[in-house]
Amino acid sequence: MITKQKGTYDIYGEEAKKRAYVDEILDSLCEKYNYGYIETPVFEASELFHRGVGEATDMVQKETYDFKDRGDRMLTLRPEGTAGVVRWFIENKLYGNMSEPVKVYYNAKMYRYERPQSGRNREFTQWGFECFGSDDVMSDAEVISLAYNAYRLLGLDNIVVRINSLGDDESRNRYRDALLDYLKPRINDLCEDCQKRLEKNPLRILDCKVDADSDIIKNAPKTIDYLNDTSKERFDKLKDLLDLMDINYEVDVNLVRGLDYYNHIVFEIVLNDSYALGGGGRYNGLVETLGGPNIPGVGFAMGYDRTLLAMEEEGVHIPINDSIDIYLLYVSSSEKDTAAYLAQDLRLNGFVCETDMMSKSLKAQFKSVDRYNAKYFIVLNDEDLKDNMVTIKDNKTKEEEKVNINDLVDYLDMHM
Ligand code: AMP
Repeated sequence: MITKQKGTYDIYGEEAKKRAYVDEILDSLCEKYNYGYIETPVFEASELFHRGVGEATDMVQKETYDFKDRGDRMLTLRPEGTAGVVRWFIENKLYGNMSEPVKVYYNAKMYRYERPQSGRNREFTQWGFECFGSDDVMSDAEVISLAYNAYRLLGLDNIVVRINSLGDDESRNRYRDALLDYLKPRINDLCEDCQKRLEKNPLRILDCKVDADSDIIKNAPKTIDYLNDTSKERFDKLKDLLDLMDINYEVDVNLVRGLDYYNHIVFEIVLNDSYALGGGGRYNGLVETLGGPNIPGVGFAMGYDRTLLAMEEEGVHIPINDSIDIYLLYVSSSEKDTAAYLAQDLRLNGFVCETDMMSKSLKAQFKSVDRYNAKYFIVLNDEDLKDNMVTIKDNKTKEEEKVNINDLVDYLDMHM
């Protein structure tokens, strides 16, 4: 038997319905915030992620699915959504007319070679969005507001937005120097990966999974103490805006996030003070790093798996329709064609309709009525059909009526 790959899963049945419910809420919310939907390819040139996400990140070093295609191109299955969207933004020269920000959202499969565990897979779905062109702190607030309210609308009330600031380039550089001075004499006590990260990207050491609990990391200098005046003012302004918007947030001075491209605000949405459901931040240098002009950007990504797990844990009720409107039964095979035609007619008129395609006995068809949890059922028999009539029965009240087949849609419209 060929089985699915480790860290991948099939989505069907109730799980598919739950995800469709989440999709609907997120689509509708993005529409209100005026974000347009975007789909980018599943695979891109490997270089996009190496440059975009950062050569020194764990994601690029250990987690990407890289392969050569038959034309000898080095390709990578996307591990995250931002780099592809930035590539699209640059390739289509959308920076040419930046009188308004460009705002897009995606809902897409991502691929990371990780150790699978609950809420962490190798193929997983992320919902995310990006806003290009505004460096105003208002756009930081808008992105946080969209992310925060998405979880609220999904029924997750026990969430907090953890925010931190890495500051502008000047602040980041000052911080980097201070961090290097602090880490150099202590580096031999950290893991091998951290030792490699020291020169390339010391900030990554701060979210090393291996050394997370070490005192060296805990006592490391904090970005917030190295912000210059403009970065500090900006961070304060953001907090004022979040207060005004009634968004539940707290400053987390240890938050740096795992990717290279952030500056100024970084944030995560955390459930019950335990685990992150999603994260984002500002990435003003990324468009330029990927070959475009100096255009600011800010974005966020939510993991579907963890969000659905969280909804389950929090006892959120997801309305799932597990009934159909009408089941069509037929007494003998001579009414089968009418069943086929009538089923189509009812479906095209907006009703969820089923009929028997397994040549069942009438008794077995009645069992299907209950199995499908049909609200109404119609028994087709030649006698009635001669007069263009059908018998329709309410499966709950068991009331039945004879209705002209041409009046059936009106009858159902009135009764449902
Ligand atoms: P990141 O791009 O790593 O910041 O991830 C953003 C969000 O995507 C996380 O908070 C998770 O909810 C989700 N996520 C990241 N990696 C995985 C994974 N391997 N499986 C499932 N969800 C993930």
